[in-house]
Amino acid sequence: MTTSQLHIALLAFPFGSHAAPLLTLVQKITPFLPSNTIFSFFNTSNSNSSIFSKTPNQENIKIYNIWDGVKQGNDTPIGREAIELFIHSTPTNFEKTMKEAEEETGVKFSCIISDAFLWFSSEFANKMNIPWIAFWTAGSCSLSIHLYTDLIRSNDETLLKIPGFSSTLKMSDMPPEVIAESLKGPMPSMLYNMAINLHKANAVVLNSFEELDPIINKDLKSKLQKVLNIGPLVILSSNNVFLDANSDESGCIQWLDNQKERSVVYLSFGTVTTLPPNEIIAIAEALEDKKMPFIWSLRDNGVKILPKGFLERTNEYGKIISWAPQLEILAHRSVGVFVTHCGWNSILEGISYGVPMICRPFFGDQKLNSRMVESVWEIGLQIEGGNFTKSGTISALSTFFNEEKGKVLRKNVEGLKEKALEAVKLDNGSSIENFKVLVELVKCHKPT
Ligand code: UDP
Repeated sequence: MTTSQLHIALLAFPFGSHAAPLLTLVQKITPFLPSNTIFSFFNTSNSNSSIFSKTPNQENIKIYNIWDGVKQGNDTPIGREAIELFIHSTPTNFEKTMKEAEEETGVKFSCIISDAFLWFSSEFANKMNIPWIAFWTAGSCSLSIHLYTDLIRSNDETLLKIPGFSSTLKMSDMPPEVIAESLKGPMPSMLYNMAINLHKANAVVLNSFEELDPIINKDLKSKLQKVLNIGPLVILSSNNVFLDANSDESGCIQWLDNQKERSVVYLSFGTVTTLPPNEIIAIAEALEDKKMPFIWSLRDNGVKILPKGFLERTNEYGKIISWAPQLEILAHRSVGVFVTHCGWNSILEGISYGVPMICRPFFGDQKLNSRMVESVWEIGLQIEGGNFTKSGTISALSTFFNEEKGKVLRKNVEGLKEKALEAVKLDNGSSIENFKVLVELVKCHKPT
């Protein structure tokens, strides 16, 4: 078996927007590694087909489907059940397919880059005597909270002691896994194991930039071997492969070209979340009441719930599409506010293109991200009462289009956008410097 060639094992967490950023990371790092480097991408077949259908595959990425935990003949589970079956099938599903990949390629792994959730990668790497690089696909704020799980569970007051958060941080902002009654359930136990094993990672890589949360990052650096913020990945390269101005299949960009500067509301709730019917109706009524130009990323099951005749009545000033070119939309000068569920990718994309936000978080790190948007970075608002009502939505939208406060929030997000651009500047941007450290780490280790 060859040991001189680089063979990087990529272990993806196949739910939400986790696997796609890992693939993005591979695409970013490839040009800096020897041309014969092999990447083996381990992910479930469902997630593989979804992410590789959106991005053309590189020749040197070998795609492996690992078992998703669903027994043959059983119905395909969805939501939490699918996640729990997958977690139960780890780590043996990864281990088995990784062995096959080494045999098939005839090249031993030189490094493991895994989603940080997959903490058992530490044990794989240890056995193989190669580095483990953990990729935390969310912000440094949520990573920090997970590392403080024991302290947070010990008493309420500790929230005030966690560096880098405002005093408005509440227990209700915590990711549910951190404050779960028991840490034994599949998700809480996976995240807790991650928290207690992450110091073993040779580096923890984040899709964020240090200047966004300097105090939190200083604290993380005191707890982990290497903390490498290399984001925002969407703007990391000057030749932005993500913005595809030539493709405007949905006609959104052409439509935006004809709207007034900063006049359009963009609404999107990520890849997993489905809004409750009453909230879909509340948003629709608010948009119609104010006749605000909008683009709404809404899947067919949501469109069915819209008030009768809504599509016809708003046809002149609104667009509903089932999958939006989110980056191109956020980058467009006509967009004035982003209504979001606060998934990390969406938050960072909003910041990268300087668009203030209205937050309606649901699960995971979203409530914490929403708190950061409103109280720490001051670049947006949480929706009144935690969910959309017609009056709450009108009031939040009015802030951005009529009031002084909206101008301040916009100015703040534009300031963060500048910092993000500084971080990815080629000469000495902090994310670029961290990226170089990552490349060296991946390059230098050979299996023994
Ligand atoms: N996205 C998109 N078009 C849509 C909806 C979402 O391109 O209509 C992308 C969005 O740009 C982001 C990702 O899907 O990169 C959603 O990730 P996020 O972390 O915000 O949420 P999740 O899907 O994990 O809940």
